[in-house]
Amino acid sequence: MRKNFKDLLSHDEAVLGFDPHGLRERYARERERRIHDKGMGQYVRMDRQLSESGPADPYMPVTPRDPIDRDVEVLILGGGFGGLLSGAYLRKAGIDDFLILDAAGDFGGTWYWNRYPNAQCDTEAYVYLPLLEETGYMPTRNYAYAPEIFEHSRRIGRTFDMYRNALFHTTIHGARWDEETGRWLVSTDRGDKLRARNLVLANGGLVRPKLPNVPGLADFKGHMFHTSRWDYDYTGGDSQGNLQNLADKRVGIIGTGATGIQCTVPLAESSKDLYIFQRTPSSVGVRGNKLTDAKWVETLAPGWQRRRAEDFIGAIEGREYQDDYPGDGWIDLVAYNAKVVRALRKEGLLSDPNDVGRVTENADFEKMEQIRRRVSEIVKDPATAELLKPWYRPLCKRPCFHDEYLDIFNRPNVHLVDAADGGIERLTENGVVVGGELFELDCLIFATGFETTPAFAPNNGLEIVGRAGMPLSEKWKDSFSTMFGYTTAGFPNCYFVARTQAPMPQNLTTLLEEAAEHIAYVISETKARGADIVDTTEDGEKVWQEEMISKRRDNLRFHALCTPGYFNNEGELSDTGHSLFAGLYGGGTIGFFELVRAWRTEGKLEGLILEKHVAKADTLAPAHTE
Ligand code: NDP
Repeated sequence: MRKNFKDLLSHDEAVLGFDPHGLRERYARERERRIHDKGMGQYVRMDRQLSESGPADPYMPVTPRDPIDRDVEVLILGGGFGGLLSGAYLRKAGIDDFLILDAAGDFGGTWYWNRYPNAQCDTEAYVYLPLLEETGYMPTRNYAYAPEIFEHSRRIGRTFDMYRNALFHTTIHGARWDEETGRWLVSTDRGDKLRARNLVLANGGLVRPKLPNVPGLADFKGHMFHTSRWDYDYTGGDSQGNLQNLADKRVGIIGTGATGIQCTVPLAESSKDLYIFQRTPSSVGVRGNKLTDAKWVETLAPGWQRRRAEDFIGAIEGREYQDDYPGDGWIDLVAYNAKVVRALRKEGLLSDPNDVGRVTENADFEKMEQIRRRVSEIVKDPATAELLKPWYRPLCKRPCFHDEYLDIFNRPNVHLVDAADGGIERLTENGVVVGGELFELDCLIFATGFETTPAFAPNNGLEIVGRAGMPLSEKWKDSFSTMFGYTTAGFPNCYFVARTQAPMPQNLTTLLEEAAEHIAYVISETKARGADIVDTTEDGEKVWQEEMISKRRDNLRFHALCTPGYFNNEGELSDTGHSLFAGLYGGGTIGFFELVRAWRTEGKLEGLILEKHVAKADTLAPAHTE
């Protein structure tokens, strides 16, 4: 059995305590089993399937209002953390004339829609919830539940007085740059006609719920809904569980990702029978949620949150960090191999580059062996425990952390259905078929995640049309092309809030905050320098493409060996195009921050071109063409 980090250089099972060769083969076999011949095409959008069975917004009625016709300095699309941070940084920069549009009935974005019971953020609340110091708020626990996060979104809205800037239950159809007026013409589903000097696109990544595209989806006669539109009228209870209406119901849930494992716990406690249809098990590490330590809070000096958030990101990236994340699952699982590599390098033991690969892989094996041992320790039935063991490297799929999930499989009313070979086959009017067997159900819940297709594809109903009538979907048809991921040439005064060509979101809100600060800087500097319009130059964009290429990481080799999922485009890999990892900046988040901050400090706005808009006498009232 391994005695110290040095042993991770070995190939030998007797030294390591596991058989690396055998594990490599097992991972490959499990991957082969899971490859789906339709790749991403195995899914269908929820809005074509379930929307008729419930209101567009199950949480808040949509109230009628008159269409709005007005000019605005900045129009922000999205009222989640990206939009809220953008608004907050505009306020800080003294820009008050902005509107935030969202299809939801309040701020919150993801946390508005995802209200399923026991929903929680897996990233430490002290780094995930933004603007804690500005809002004077301290999370109650180290991992916050969804209602607390949603309420924090509202708090940011109140603190920065942004409710007066908000247009809720409003969906943008499209935005078209109008050269005559130097504005974005924006039309909405409420009949609004808005003319925005600047357009900030903070419309999130995982927004459109998806369902398995299996036969019989429309045949099921029981009740069904997606986790992001939880039907408490049907289940009873609330975000804490107590789903009392399910006491006499046979409930099925498809999906055992981060959402699935959180909401199955209250479902197991409340349902008469719960059938969990599992294709790939998640890795489920220790959660260890605790109340916030008041003594620790007293030690925090001003500026602590940004520093901590960047320290946390650095740790995940494999940098040295202050060791004050006791029991954090991300640090324990993801930063572990980098910690081993650092320790061995210090001892001068990693001179051969091949050794780094072997040590990293062995460290990953070791961590996943711990995850698998935990399953056996908690789940009493050995056959069920075997099915719950994940056979892939830690970052092949989104790691999960939970202290009650595995234990539900010891309950007599919980049935794990193995759908590893191809997933669920079809739905009938009575239930779900897997491996030729029908599981009869009263209610079926889809915890099947969200589309990861590009947000600006024409079929997403949001077309952004830039200079010379060029649609963004056309410009980005083959691959993305931006400057810092924030702007793109030919789309003046248009900003993307950390959507693409940005670094890996180890903590998304920190990326969103940097984007918000950057965008507010460019907008206010443009104004301060007497210009109205700012566009990215071809050169500016080219420099960033070169930087993207020079820092490109060979994620392909890693992901090619991973079990399929949205991380690796369901196994359909390409290092160009739009797959999740192809669009990521490989220079790391901290490196990215250093780069964009240096650019701002330099103050030359290099790569951008400022223009003064000259209005034509006859263009007072531009026509909306959308
Ligand atoms: P995911 O896409 O992660 O998971 C979808 C699940 O559905 C997977 O288990 C998948 O299996 C399963 N599935 C899909 N099709 C079928 C099928 N035909 N038959 C059987 N099973 C099927 O969605 P989630 O909602 O769990 O997560 C969405 C996003 O939200 C993720 O990015 C996640 O990280 C994030 N999230 C974050 C949280 C946080 O803490 N911050 C909390 C909850 C979610 P398979 O794995 O085999 O494809």
